[in-house]
Amino acid sequence: MLPNNDMASLAGETRSRFKRAGTFFSRIPRKFLLVISAALALSLIAIIPNLTNGPEEPIDPILQDDIEKNKILQSSNTDYSNPDAKEKLVIVEHVVKPGENLSVIARDYGISIDTICGSNNLRSYDFIRAGTRLKIPNKDGILYRMRGGNNITGIAKKYRVSIEKIIAENDLKNPDFVQKDSVIFIPDAKPQNIIRGFMWPTRGRYITCGYGWRRNPFNRKYREFHQGLDIRARYEWIRASKYGKVTYTGWMGGYGNAVIIAHPGGWKTLYAHLSRIIVRRGQYVKQGQTIARSGNTGRSTGPHLHYEIIKSGRNKNPYTYLHKK
Ligand SMILES: [Zn+2]
Repeated sequence: MLPNNDMASLAGETRSRFKRAGTFFSRIPRKFLLVISAALALSLIAIIPNLTNGPEEPIDPILQDDIEKNKILQSSNTDYSNPDAKEKLVIVEHVVKPGENLSVIARDYGISIDTICGSNNLRSYDFIRAGTRLKIPNKDGILYRMRGGNNITGIAKKYRVSIEKIIAENDLKNPDFVQKDSVIFIPDAKPQNIIRGFMWPTRGRYITCGYGWRRNPFNRKYREFHQGLDIRARYEWIRASKYGKVTYTGWMGGYGNAVIIAHPGGWKTLYAHLSRIIVRRGQYVKQGQTIARSGNTGRSTGPHLHYEIIKSGRNKNPYTYLHKK
């Protein structure tokens, strides 16, 4: 689009021409001058719409699609909300099988690696031996063994969670006196601002179109900002990049069939041009869980996955957040 000041300078130029031609105009009768200026004004009005429709402008349907998509994405309906907080805490034991690693186990239980590490005093992402017994809570948070001198206030402060939540989660009768060596669950204690990347939603990692300015694939005359990655995926299963809540499923204009997943911490991922969606709105999904099948719906030039990562309403380059390993 042409910036507004271009139009202003156009008007300014017209005025200065009037000035320079002052002597010429002074010889013309006043009435006639008024007619000329009216005609000039009218022709300017006729020019303006053509200016705003310059060749740099993306073509309308795509602009419309983006407006529509952004409306959905920005709406609080598609925000993350915690699963029912009243869901009772359950801790199961998992015996590590040969070939399993922390990320596989975390994925299978729909919790974070931090939760497993935090609940089992694991310090790193090291190889864990088959046969190791792990405590697996059904929510994100960590299991914490009380040491002498610990108190709930201090723990809440350290892990930046509410005291009330810790008290409620553990049914503490007297939060001032929690016995040494008793194990409490600290909900949400996983430092959620530590983003360990998003999982690739596809099997392959071949990017057919990256994030940023590009030529419109339907009309190469126009430039547009591509807000996600196009990943090669011919009708294949698509996985959730990260644990979260499905907050949108269905048709999204040029994006075809789409899914939005909201993740804790203000993140969202969008999966578009899908041929089949197998999750429903409101459902919580684990990282790596199958959510849909890629396809060619909407404005798409062939089967692929259009994938976006959004943080607090702003599109990010997904490539910088996807696991590199
Ligand atoms: Zn795309």
